[in-house]
Amino acid sequence: MAYTFHGGIHVEEYKNTRRCRIEVMPQPKEVRIPLRQHIGVPAIPVVQPGERVTMGQKIGEIPDGRLGCAVHASVSGVVKSLETDPLAVGNVGFVVIENDGLDTPCEEMQPFQGKLADATTEQIVDVVREAGITGMGGATFPTHVKISSALGKVDTIIINCAECEPFITANHRLMLENPASIINGCKILLKALGVHKAWLAVEDNKMDAIERLEELTADSSMIEVKVMKTKYPQGDERQLIYALTGREIPTGKLPADVGCVIFNAETCASIFKAFAYGMPSIKRIVTVDGDCVRRPKNLLVPIGTRVSDVIECCGGLTRTPKKLISGGPMMGNALWDPNLPVMKGTSAILVFSDRFDKPKNAAVSCIRCGKCVQNCPMHLMPMYLAQFAQRDDWERAAAYGVMSCVECGSCSYNCPGGVEIVQHIRTAKAVIRSEAARKAALAKK
Ligand code: SF4
Ligand code: SF4
Repeated sequence: MAYTFHGGIHVEEYKNTRRCRIEVMPQPKEVRIPLRQHIGVPAIPVVQPGERVTMGQKIGEIPDGRLGCAVHASVSGVVKSLETDPLAVGNVGFVVIENDGLDTPCEEMQPFQGKLADATTEQIVDVVREAGITGMGGATFPTHVKISSALGKVDTIIINCAECEPFITANHRLMLENPASIINGCKILLKALGVHKAWLAVEDNKMDAIERLEELTADSSMIEVKVMKTKYPQGDERQLIYALTGREIPTGKLPADVGCVIFNAETCASIFKAFAYGMPSIKRIVTVDGDCVRRPKNLLVPIGTRVSDVIECCGGLTRTPKKLISGGPMMGNALWDPNLPVMKGTSAILVFSDRFDKPKNAAVSCIRCGKCVQNCPMHLMPMYLAQFAQRDDWERAAAYGVMSCVECGSCSYNCPGGVEIVQHIRTAKAVIRSEAARKAALAKK
């Protein structure tokens, strides 16, 4: 029987690109690489305008002791400019590189010298840090820090291959086309963390990938494929851990606090590429789909490529777009400008017309049907949270557990009252967070 969790919803899958092989995107003329694509401080540029750079060369580094990830050139060419532009996290520095189309590799890209069996944890963490790897499922937490902070605390590694968001098939294709990279990355993580158990968690709507992974792990005593029920948000780490182990992560705690650590499938493959080839995080697989896209695809895209170039590579648009989303339709971020770049956390680019708008209810009000409570995987009472937020009653919202909300959107998905529950919850969380920060700053004075 497939593993699952309480609540959640069955969404229309729209996995239109599940049979689209990963294509290498043709070279873009220019890349605009943000110096902050991760949780933490921005990288400091270590190149100057006019300087020639090679593919894989470090162009931004993190000051010692600070949280963040190094940034590398995804193409070879000449640094055209250093700029500052707005991203969702605020104003961010960019390194703009004019691509010479040669992909001249950086000489410093070298495989790990030695065998995995002899590698120490510090050496593996160093490889991951130097490669600038972040969580590629969208969380963008620096992977070397995740490994270091899980050391000595965990007994189980979970590789998140659930890919429960509609439309996205990037991990699915990776599992089919290069499953060995995921399994080898998993072996490196087992060695780094000194644990003996790793699970590859895949939803049961990807049976072809499950079979491939099972074949390749058949003789491993440490790596096992776990079949998860197809249900949204199966890929959320709290749900994944609960479904597989029965362990619940208390509010404000991390997976490591219950003995688990989770890595996304493509992150895992990137760890292998860094270890085996010295390849930093400079490209990623992006699913491009939505009813406006002429030829939906899975593309291997250099980091920093303009979203508009990626869409052009899929034949452009067939109708007037209404929404441009980076990531999945449930938890992704709306993009306001097609000139924004693909980043390490961009798993998908989706372009929708108004045909995909939810039908608007004449009156927006809760009819107390209780559906949102039933759907909430975090056992919350979303309708009350929305009501408290609408009344600016942050205290009661907090008391009813608003900060435990993982913003999965399962409550809003089929609310018959048309209440934008998750939007109200996001507002409440933002207000509560900024109030806490304000109090902490006052306390420091
Ligand atoms: S699903 Fe919508 S209508 Fe039903 S209880 Fe929740 S908020 Fe109210
Ligand atoms: S309240 Fe939060 S965790 Fe619960 S269903 Fe809504 S968005 Fe998901």
